[in-house]
Amino acid sequence: MLHERLSSVYDNVLRRNPGEIEFHQAVREVLESIGPVLGKDPEYAEHKIIERICEPERQIIFRVPWEDDQGEVHINRGFRVEFNSALGPYKGGLRFHPSVYLGIVKFLGFEQIFKNGLTGLPIGGGKGGSDFDPKGRSDREIMRFCQSFMTELYRHLGEYTDVPAGDIGVGGREIGYLFGQYKRITNRYESGVITGKGLTYGGAQVRTEATGYGCAFFVEEMLKARGTSFDGRRVVVSGAGNVAIYSIEKVQQLGGIVVACSDSSGYVVDEKGIDLDLLKQIKGVERRRLSAYAERRGTDATFVAGRSVWEVPCEVAMPSATENEITGKDAEAMVRGGCMAVGEGANMPTTPEGIRVFQEAGVSFGPGKAANAGGVATSALEMQQNASRDRWTFEFSERKLQEIMKDIHRRCLQTADEYGMPGDYVAGANIDGFKRVADAMLAMGLI
Ligand code: NDP
Repeated sequence: MLHERLSSVYDNVLRRNPGEIEFHQAVREVLESIGPVLGKDPEYAEHKIIERICEPERQIIFRVPWEDDQGEVHINRGFRVEFNSALGPYKGGLRFHPSVYLGIVKFLGFEQIFKNGLTGLPIGGGKGGSDFDPKGRSDREIMRFCQSFMTELYRHLGEYTDVPAGDIGVGGREIGYLFGQYKRITNRYESGVITGKGLTYGGAQVRTEATGYGCAFFVEEMLKARGTSFDGRRVVVSGAGNVAIYSIEKVQQLGGIVVACSDSSGYVVDEKGIDLDLLKQIKGVERRRLSAYAERRGTDATFVAGRSVWEVPCEVAMPSATENEITGKDAEAMVRGGCMAVGEGANMPTTPEGIRVFQEAGVSFGPGKAANAGGVATSALEMQQNASRDRWTFEFSERKLQEIMKDIHRRCLQTADEYGMPGDYVAGANIDGFKRVADAMLAMGLI
């Protein structure tokens, strides 16, 4: 239920942003949480802070022309939504996927504002990407696309202005091509302008692993709060990309057994536990379908084409592929199957019905804003190292990441308690993230 004042804010968002359903969903989730804040702090409503937060500071849409290996010309659309810079330069990844349109970029950018606030680090919120489909493209085609994309985007970036990173379809290879083109156009070695860089040219230790590792640390804290741990627990992780792979790695180190993962073609079940080296080889190096994992693994693993991995029973679920992958029905089946904790590695992977089912069943539910914030937090650490021309060790960086995740977990619970919703990580994350941004905006006058 929405507070009366927030209901009119939401109606306005629907009216001003027609058809952008993912954006509507992300806004509604935040508005549903912050009703109690308005009672305690009337200043936010008086100064129309919420209305202002729902309107991006700037939206950039541009043409990206490029040529494939056969010489055929393609035209894609590029986006960068600079949503909120009250806490620092716009910060958030770039997504290359055919489903990308303004509504997806705005939902991701909106989430990013609160997530970045929650980290306690000086970063604002933004997001970008393109409807370009990298699947099946050669390295040279990817490079030409990235160069064309950056040829427009560079003018909007800067280490004090807007600092992108990766997301779906944008990993180390793409970041390298994007940074190379930025450097070439601007004639500046401005390392802090993009994060997720390779370790040979300004990247930071643990950035590649950070979202997945951070999510595992967050879930470990949720399990601790329930008086238990990962040890011997049956875990399912969706996806087989950056976030999924490093979630699996850390969960295995913490004693959990990851029995299934997925990609856009289906899922694989491996009751003895996913063979991570093989998974990295198939998905990360060879860039093949997940069925190749089962073929090479032999009789231990089964590949199931075209179905949802959430039909595999588990005690801990870590959705790490894409938005709205866990429906209300999936959630009901998961609860029946013994699921006790969910940590969202992806952004908004659970539908509102799914969240309701988990919360009503007493499942510990860690929303993406909190559980996957380790990625952007470590990006901020990369910016810090770039600014001071410093390099930290893997161990030091991982310790920092773990501290940040513990702190986010603690603050989610503390804030939820303060507002009378004990154990509600969604409310805790939304309220804490919101207040940090809102207080900065109040202090800066009418911005
Ligand atoms: P990757 O591109 O590395 O991996 C994405 C994985 O999810 C792939 O296995 C892909 O399958 C699968 N996938 C993508 N879209 C779909 C779909 N529509 N249906 C089914 N499967 C799909 O991306 P990341 O791991 O970086 O990102 C995953 C999620 O985590 C996203 O929600 C992203 O926003 C979020 N996130 C990422 C961060 C980061 O640091 N990278 C930080 C915070 C959140 P296939 O291999 O077949 O394409």
